[in-house]
Amino acid sequence: MYPVKEKIIEVLSHLPDGVKLVAVSKYHPAEYINEAYSVGQRIFGESHVQELRQKVEVLPQDIEWHFIGHLQTNKVKYIAPYIHTIESVDSEKLIAEINKHAFKCGRTINVLLELHLAKEETKSGLTPGEWIALLDGGLKERYENVHICGLMMMASNTDDEQQIESEFEQASDCFDTIKRRFFADNDYFCERSWGMSGDYPLAIKHRSTMVRIGTLIFGPRVY
Ligand SMILES: *Cc1c(COP(=O)(O)O)cnc(C)c1O
Repeated sequence: MYPVKEKIIEVLSHLPDGVKLVAVSKYHPAEYINEAYSVGQRIFGESHVQELRQKVEVLPQDIEWHFIGHLQTNKVKYIAPYIHTIESVDSEKLIAEINKHAFKCGRTINVLLELHLAKEETKSGLTPGEWIALLDGGLKERYENVHICGLMMMASNTDDEQQIESEFEQASDCFDTIKRRFFADNDYFCERSWGMSGDYPLAIKHRSTMVRIGTLIFGPRVY
């Protein structure tokens, strides 16, 4: 078995105070999650609804589950009863659906707005201008059972560190702009979710508050 406990302790030792770790457990079995849980990890990230549903059934109740993959509107209902944060929100339609099911469950669901800044067209999310236009149009006021807690982004998958840093810096600037214009008096909007196994030190340099790390903790994805 992969040395999950040692790996997670090592990753945690590199994170400054105030930076949360989302342990990305997609494609790894529940036993691996239990190993990380046994050394105190509580926040786990998954990107497939079916896989998440299976894990939730067999794992401890006090895990804080974050959804980090592309989420289809017709699947929101399956995770609405327990999901803590949906980090990968990329349309108003999805926010409306999350709100509807959160209301039905009598709860509030946290979301992060996914920013598209990377060069790759394959990455999802909306541009800063698109989010600002939606917020200008009242996005924040319309959905009472959704808390918009910040921004999430993935940098380009490249060896060019300058490119990666420039994308994190743009995300950080965008956070400040949106915070100032729309959430100045709101305590929820405080998270900057950027940084993965390959680039998290650069993300922290550019004010990440939440890193999403899979491979460094759990090893190569197995299934
Ligand atoms: C898989 C995934 C990660 C973790 O990637 P690693 O390189 O394994 O650390 C982080 N964020 C998102 C959105 C992912 O899909």
